Amino acid sequence: MERFIPLSIPNFEGNEKKYVNDALSQGWVSTGGKYITELEKKLEEFLKVKKVVACQSGTAALHLALMECGVQPKDLVIVPTLTFIAAVNPVMYQFASPIFMDCDDSLCMDVQKLRRFCESECDLKEEGLFHRDTGKQIKALVVVHVFGNLADMESIMEIAEKFHFKVVEDATEALGSRYISGRYAGKFAGTIGDFGAYSFNGNKIITTGGGGAVTAKEEKAAQHMQYISTQAKDDPLYYIHNEIGFNYRMTNLQAALGVAQMEELPEFIRRKNQNYKLYLEQLKDFPFGELLGFRQGTESNRWFYSLKLKMGQFKGSLREIISSLQAKGIQTRAVWDLIHKQLPYKENIAYQIEKALYYSSCILNLPCSTQLTEEEIVFVVEQIKNIVGEMADGIRVT
Ligand SMILES: *Cc1c(COP(=O)(O)O)cnc(C)c1O
Repeated sequence: MERFIPLSIPNFEGNEKKYVNDALSQGWVSTGGKYITELEKKLEEFLKVKKVVACQSGTAALHLALMECGVQPKDLVIVPTLTFIAAVNPVMYQFASPIFMDCDDSLCMDVQKLRRFCESECDLKEEGLFHRDTGKQIKALVVVHVFGNLADMESIMEIAEKFHFKVVEDATEALGSRYISGRYAGKFAGTIGDFGAYSFNGNKIITTGGGGAVTAKEEKAAQHMQYISTQAKDDPLYYIHNEIGFNYRMTNLQAALGVAQMEELPEFIRRKNQNYKLYLEQLKDFPFGELLGFRQGTESNRWFYSLKLKMGQFKGSLREIISSLQAKGIQTRAVWDLIHKQLPYKENIAYQIEKALYYSSCILNLPCSTQLTEEEIVFVVEQIKNIVGEMADGIRVT
C-alpha cells in the first residue's frame, strides 16, 4: 500500500458510534431529540456563554447572525477577501453588498486599513456609518479568525464601537481559540463580538458531518435566531408563524456525533498544538519558508498550519509543489483564491488589497489531522525540503 497523508480528516476515537446508535435506536433522527440540547449545553459551558443555537452549517449560522444584525437589501457589510467564500455569501442572501478588506501578516483582517476606511471613506451620522460614494449604510462587519488564529479583536471592537456597526465573528475555524491577556483575557473566539458562528463541517476541529452553531452577546438575540432557525413557529400545535423562518435547525443525528466530539475537543486541541511544535522544529533550518505563527496573548486551537514559502528564491510554482507532494502521497493545499476577484464579487468595492494578494500566492497548508504521527510529520517536511531544494538547485545552474 502506498502511503497517503491527507490534509485534514475527522477523528472518531470516542463515543461517536455509541451516541449515534443511541439516537437511531430511539428514533430521534430529525430536528427534535435530547442530543441537540445536550450539544448546545456543552458548547455553552465550554465557551462560557448563556445561549448557543445549533444549526445546519456554519453558513447557516452566519446567515442567522446577519439577519439578526438587521442587514437588509442596500446595506453594506465589511468582509475579508482572504477567506472561505461562505463567510461572504450570506451577505448576498440578504441582498446586501460586501466591502472587501485586506489582511495583515496574521492573515486576519488588517485593522489599520479598516480604521482608515471608516475614517476617510465614510461619514458617521446619527443613524450609523454611511459609505460616502454609495450613500449606503454599513450595518455590520464579518471578521474571520483564519485557520484558528484570533483576529485583533481589541482593535476591531474599538472601531465598531466608535463607528456604530455590529460585529459578526466567523469562528468556524477557531472553536477553542481564546485570548489569555488584554481586554478579552479568558474570552473565546466567537464570544467577543455581537455574534459568533461556528462550523462542524468534516474538516473542522470537531465535526457533526455537516453542522454549525451560533451565539450572541444578547441572549434575546440568540433566542430569536433559534426561533428563525426552526421555521418561526409561534404555536407548534396549530402552526402559527409570525415571521419568515428557515429550516436551519441541526438534527439529532448530527448532534449525537457533536456531543461525542465535544468530549474530545481538548485532546484534539492538544494534538494540534503538539503537531504544530513538531512541524516548527522540523522546519527551523528550512531556508525557503517559515511556518506562520499565532497571535501573541492568545492560545490558538492551531487548526491549520501555514507554511509561507519564499517564492522568488526557487524555480517553481505553488501548483508544482502541491502536485509533487501529491505524487509522494502528501495532500497539501494553497489558501483560497481571493473573494473580491471571484465572478460574483468582481464589481464590489475592494479597499486597498495588497497583502492578501501576496499571501494567497505563497502559503502552503500542511497536513494537520489529529491522527498525524511524528514519523509522518518528519516525512512531510523531508519531502518539502527535497522538492523545494531541487527547484532551488535549478536556479543556481541557470
Ligand atoms: C468552514 C467555513 C465556513 C462555513 O462553514 P460550513 O459549516 O461549511 O457551512 C465559513 N467560513 C469559514 C472561514 C470557514 O472556514
